[in-house]
Amino acid sequence: MNRSDFPILNEQVYGKPLIYLDNAATTQKPQLVIDALSDYYNRINSNIHRGVHCLSQIATNEFEMAREAVRQYINAPTTQEVVFTRGATESINLVASSFGRTYLRQGDEVIVSEMEHHSNIVPWQLVCEERNAKLKVLPFNDRGELIINDLETLITERTKIVAVAHVSNSLGTVNPIEEIIRIAHSHNVPVLVDGAQAVAHCPVDVQALNCDFYCFSGHKMYAPMGIGVMYGKAQWLNEMKPYQGGGEMIKDVTFEKTTYNDLPFKFEAGTPSVGDVIGLRKAIEYIQSVGLEKIANYEQELLSYTTEKLSQIEGMRFIGEAKQKTGVISFLVGNIHPYDMGVLLDHQGVAVRTGHHCTQPIMTHFAIPGTVRASFALYNTIEDADKLVEAVIKAQRMLS
Ligand code: PMP
Repeated sequence: MNRSDFPILNEQVYGKPLIYLDNAATTQKPQLVIDALSDYYNRINSNIHRGVHCLSQIATNEFEMAREAVRQYINAPTTQEVVFTRGATESINLVASSFGRTYLRQGDEVIVSEMEHHSNIVPWQLVCEERNAKLKVLPFNDRGELIINDLETLITERTKIVAVAHVSNSLGTVNPIEEIIRIAHSHNVPVLVDGAQAVAHCPVDVQALNCDFYCFSGHKMYAPMGIGVMYGKAQWLNEMKPYQGGGEMIKDVTFEKTTYNDLPFKFEAGTPSVGDVIGLRKAIEYIQSVGLEKIANYEQELLSYTTEKLSQIEGMRFIGEAKQKTGVISFLVGNIHPYDMGVLLDHQGVAVRTGHHCTQPIMTHFAIPGTVRASFALYNTIEDADKLVEAVIKAQRMLS
C-alpha cells in the first residue's frame, strides 16, 4: 500500500533491499512531508505569532492551520486544547509536572499500568517524589492484558490521576481505555492516555473517549521528528501551572508578577518547531487520504498473517498475545538472545528492534532480557512479512 510514496524504502542495507519493520520506534516519511520541510525553509521560514511582516504572518497561519488539522484528527472540541510539544515524552512530562505541581499533595496517589513505556512512568515518579505522593501500578496478565478489575480496588479517595497507554509499544495490546476512563471518572479521577502507538493505527476521538489528556508524537505517524501533541481538557489546562516559562506563554511580565497567556499558548513557551508542525499537518492529510479505517484493517491482516507464519517456527514464543492488538509482534526463539537475532536479521536487510523497548517492567514480568519486535506501518507488505519469517529461520539455523 502506497510504498512508492516513501523514498527511503528504496534504500539497500548491506546490499539487500531494506525491509523496515521498526515502525513502533519511528515511521518513515512520505515525500510530501519531506517536501513540506524544505518548502518551509526555502520559502517561509520566520518566527510566528510576533512578526508584522509578511513571512511571519504566512508562517503563523500555516502553524495554526496545522493545529486545526490536529484538532480535527483527534476530534478535540477546540484548538485551545491542542498544545504542540516535542513529542509524547514532553507531552507526558508537561502534564505530570504541571498537573502534579497543581494538584498533588503529600499522601496522594497516581496510578500507572505495568505495561507503560518509561516515558509514562518516570515523569510520574519524579513528581511523586517531589510531592511525597505514591505511585501505584495496575498489573497485566500473562497474555499482556490489563487486569481491569483491579482498577476499582486501586483507586482510593487519594487517587489524583490514572495514566495509561492506549496501545503498548512492546506487547501491541490495545487497552480498553474507554472502560478505564469510565471507571476512573466514576471516582472523579481524570485519565491521561499515552497515544504514541495508537494515533497512526486506529481512529482516535478524544471527545468520544472523554479522556482528560491524550499525548502523542508526530514521528510515529509519518511526520517529522521533534514534534508532538498534548491534548488536554481546558478545565484542567486553565487551572494547571505552566510547564515552562518564557516568551509566548505570557500576557504581561513585570518583576513583581507575570500573567499567563490564553490556551494553548500558556503551555507553549519559546519558539516552536514551525516547519515540523507544518510537516505534521501534511502527515495527517496523508493518513486521511489513505483512510485510518483502511490502514487499521490492512495492518490487522499483516498482523494475523505474520503471527501465523512465525508461529510455525520451532521454539517461537510470543510476548503479548492479547485479543486486541495492533501490528506489533514481540517474540523470542528458543534460547536465542534477542540481540543476536536482531543482528542476524539486520544483516539480511530486516530492520527490527531488540531489547526492552523502554518497558523494563514488562521484561521483569516475563523474566526475560528483552524481545525481538517487528512492527508494521501502512507501507509494509505480505512480502515484508515473508522476508521476516525467512530471515528468522535462517538466523535460527545459523545460531543453533
Ligand atoms: N509512549 C509509548 C507507548 C511509546 O512507544 C513511545 C516511543 N517509543 C513514547 C511514549 C515516547 O515517544 P517519544 O520518544 O516520541 O517522545
